[in-house]
Amino acid sequence: MNDLKKEFLEIVAEVRAHLEYQRALGVRTIELPTAAAGPAEVRPAAPVRETPARPVPAVPQRPVPERKPAAPPTAAEPPAARPASLEAIREEIGDCRRCKLHKGRNAIVFGEGDPKAAIVFVGEGPGFEEDQQGRPFVGAAGELLTKIIENAMGLKRADVYICNIVKCRPPDNRNPEPDEVEACIGFVKQQIAVIKPKVIVTLGNVPTQNLLKTKQGITRMRGTWQEFNGIPVMPTFHPSYLLRSPGEKGKVWEDIKLVMKKMGMPVSEKK
Ligand code: URA
Repeated sequence: MNDLKKEFLEIVAEVRAHLEYQRALGVRTIELPTAAAGPAEVRPAAPVRETPARPVPAVPQRPVPERKPAAPPTAAEPPAARPASLEAIREEIGDCRRCKLHKGRNAIVFGEGDPKAAIVFVGEGPGFEEDQQGRPFVGAAGELLTKIIENAMGLKRADVYICNIVKCRPPDNRNPEPDEVEACIGFVKQQIAVIKPKVIVTLGNVPTQNLLKTKQGITRMRGTWQEFNGIPVMPTFHPSYLLRSPGEKGKVWEDIKLVMKKMGMPVSEKK
């Protein structure tokens, strides 16, 4: 092979690797420069809550540096691509004002857990307690999720990663609206791209429908393996729903057993 051809093939391989990486981050379109425009720019695509409950033990995390952007991001600004780390994603979020949820929030709830977790749980968005503490799933639903992780799965909460589709609390604990999801979902996709889990568990309709781009409801989707960017996804009921309908806990246990089997974890038939 002559040198020119070799160089050409190397460039093609590099471009392919870059595009695969962007795809893993959820980027679906790339704008090319026109004669009049500037340099090429990559444009990434972008609760049922509960009353206060017993505190969930803190997961040790590296401190996230405070970021004071000179010009805070505006609604039009999409999340950046190519995160190097969870810290870089948190920095990119900054003092976010990309959607209207920032107006009522106390704290941005980024997510927490093992940055190399094999299992990522994705919920809807922070509730009252999460907004107060700046941590995901620390209210009553969080207590139940922690029991699922620790008692049913035999893991520690700190062994998994827990995050949400939106990072600010929707008012009155309503579901996040499409524009809010659009502004924020790019970040959870970036978190997943950095963590590279073996399995994602989506909790309820909001993360299931938005990550998997489906309108199917959770009752139909739960217990069936899906896929997000090549990662197996198990949709299951949201723990808040289980608090209202405890008779459905058995179904979540069935879904969790499928996750454990996929992970090669020992499964006992008792809950
Ligand atoms: N419900 C969610 O979906 N996420 C949380 O963090 C808490 C409650």
